[in-house]
Amino acid sequence: MIWRRIRELLGGGEGRGRDPDAIWLYVQCAHCGAPLAVRADRRYDLNPEEDGSGYVLIKEIMDDRCFRLMRAEVHLDAAYRIVARTLEGGRFLSPEEYARLTGSTAEGRAP
Ligand SMILES: [Zn+2]
Repeated sequence: MIWRRIRELLGGGEGRGRDPDAIWLYVQCAHCGAPLAVRADRRYDLNPEEDGSGYVLIKEIMDDRCFRLMRAEVHLDAAYRIVARTLEGGRFLSPEEYARLTGSTAEGRAP
């Protein structure tokens, strides 16, 4: 049921519920198109910005299809809102895009 899945995904990104320390990143490999959901943790994965304005999250991500390494750099403000992000080797997906890619077309490649 795709709507349930989307609600789960959205819920995971709002910082409430069972996993309040999770920061979810949804990405797609530029090489093979594999969608991935990556969980980062506020408590362990964030480093303070040098100027004290918030946090930076660096995450190396490998998909399970072509095993290329992607490197995400996400900047958050003091309230853990994402203010900027870059991804080498892929692109960011919205939770809806991720659900669509993984839910309705199981092995489907991105268009
Ligand atoms: Zn890949």
